[in-house]
Amino acid sequence: MSGMKVYIDGKWVGRKDAKVSVFDHGFLYGDGVFEGIRAYDGHVFRLNQHLKRLYRSANLVSLKIPMPLPKLAAVVRESLRKNNLRDAYIRLLITRGAGDLGLDPRKCPRPSIICITDKLALFPRECYEEGLKAIFAKTKRNLTEALDPSIKSMNYLNNILAKIEAVKAGVPEAIMLNVQGHVSECTGDNVFYIKGKTIVTPPVSAGVLVGITRAAVMEIVRKKTPYRVVEKLFKPKELLSADEVFFTGTAAEVIPVTRIDKKSIASGRPGPITLELMDLFKELTKLEAQLKI
Ligand code: PMP
Repeated sequence: MSGMKVYIDGKWVGRKDAKVSVFDHGFLYGDGVFEGIRAYDGHVFRLNQHLKRLYRSANLVSLKIPMPLPKLAAVVRESLRKNNLRDAYIRLLITRGAGDLGLDPRKCPRPSIICITDKLALFPRECYEEGLKAIFAKTKRNLTEALDPSIKSMNYLNNILAKIEAVKAGVPEAIMLNVQGHVSECTGDNVFYIKGKTIVTPPVSAGVLVGITRAAVMEIVRKKTPYRVVEKLFKPKELLSADEVFFTGTAAEVIPVTRIDKKSIASGRPGPITLELMDLFKELTKLEAQLKI
């Protein structure tokens, strides 16, 4: 897109000029943190929650974001206006900044702030209508004690290895297990299953990103439905014997999953509770855009 404006450290530049130094430790080491954010009808969905997660991630890797939260929120909102978009996907990154070739972050005096806003690239429509196919990846999710998945860092190689497995299997997503064999999350989405009237998702201790969509869906279930939602550890077998499975994420929203490792989930069609939650989530995004909250 020719008219794209990317924010880099105080400047708005065109796509061709949107460049960072090869000495940036974000490039050299994946040393940085980020957020994937969505705007609906000109309103940034749950911006404050995204920014809180960003500052938390930065804090956990001893990275000081060189801008206070309200000012960063203004940059994100401005990026929508600069790009003339009302429905968009926004990528906000804080990189460690340029240093030398060693690992030492102290050699990077100035972290960089980058904000890219673009049109959405979603899963194809038929995935929402027919349900998504997925696999269980052999690649295990990072150990919480090694690189905590609740830190949304720029180092996504663990997820990419699982994504490569999905690509090789010809499916769009891969479900990752932790080293104990419990289901953790997908390469870019959280996992839920439904059994009877109970909706289950792995707890943070399973090694997951605390998804903004995950939280919104849990809130919807508690406030708007007769179902109950619980966080508990579970193994792949439990997922395969569920009535319904769905994934959540900023880009994907709520998406039904109907086949895992070539096995059908229940009837192999998107289930009624998932369809209900998809509608309720859409309603929520519309309502929050109207009320500007
Ligand atoms: N897990 C991972 C690994 C992700 O990258 C994402 C997408 N950011 C999610 C879960 C879903 O989180 P959210 O709902 O905040 O987009």
